[in-house]
Amino acid sequence: MPTLRGKTALVTGSTSGIGLAMAVALAKQGANIMMNGFGEKDAAIASVKARGVEVDYHGADMSKPAEIEAMIAAIEKRFGAIDILVNNAGIQHVANVEDFPEERWDAVIAINLSSAFHTTRFALPGMKQRNWGRIINIASVHGLVASMQKAAYVAAKHGIIGLTKVVALETARTGVTCNAICPGWVLTPLVQKQVDARAEREGISNDAAKLALVSEKQPSGEFVSPEQLAALAVFLCGDAASEVRGAAWNMDGGWTAQ
Ligand code: NAD
Repeated sequence: MPTLRGKTALVTGSTSGIGLAMAVALAKQGANIMMNGFGEKDAAIASVKARGVEVDYHGADMSKPAEIEAMIAAIEKRFGAIDILVNNAGIQHVANVEDFPEERWDAVIAINLSSAFHTTRFALPGMKQRNWGRIINIASVHGLVASMQKAAYVAAKHGIIGLTKVVALETARTGVTCNAICPGWVLTPLVQKQVDARAEREGISNDAAKLALVSEKQPSGEFVSPEQLAALAVFLCGDAASEVRGAAWNMDGGWTAQ
């Protein structure tokens, strides 16, 4: 029996990668889905609809609070409520601090951190009123440890873990939980760009660049899959996880165990 039938989930940045896998997995459990994100979206929407649930799409730019507010209003109008909020949309920019473009810093902080503050503040009153909700923030191992050349990303991901803990405390006496998932390397378009850059920089093949990238941080030598992360999100939505509050749960092939 699907465990989430009758619930509605918003998954930001669900046209691709980890967000799309989250949307599919929650739909498999029976949840209706509001999708969001840029780029080619029709195939992504179709793959979620194929699970037999109600699916809608909103093109809110997650760097724009007014558009986020409009998206939350649209979900409440269409589905009546937001029960599950997956803050997933994210971007990356790689440069040394002194060369980091100010505009890229602002964009990474807005999309990877501030957007979760806005979705949470707009969605939380309804969740509290119904005394049920799940907020899942897709952070990163970079919310727990740092890497060079990722100042904005690491700052945003450390920040979202802080936000997760505050929201978890403020909802601790309710049926709303808030947790973060901290993936290691996952081979999505976001990471493929870094693989391409490395292959070009070092004059090596795509496969060699993938192996070099994953091996230098992840003791397992394997990428984490979007589906594995989505299964953890489904677990966090269930009754068994009702007392998991404020966790920053890594799934990283041993990266942060070192
Ligand atoms: P991805 O590039 O495949 O997907 C990112 C999604 O965010 C896309 O749907 C994109 O359209 C959307 N997006 C980007 N900017 C947006 C904006 N302004 N408004 C709305 N949507 C926007 O990347 P991914 O690897 O699936 O990343 C998803 C999340 O997982 C991100 O928060 C990322 O930081 C995190 N993460 C990824 C990895 C990894 O190795 N891939 C590791 C740790 C954490």
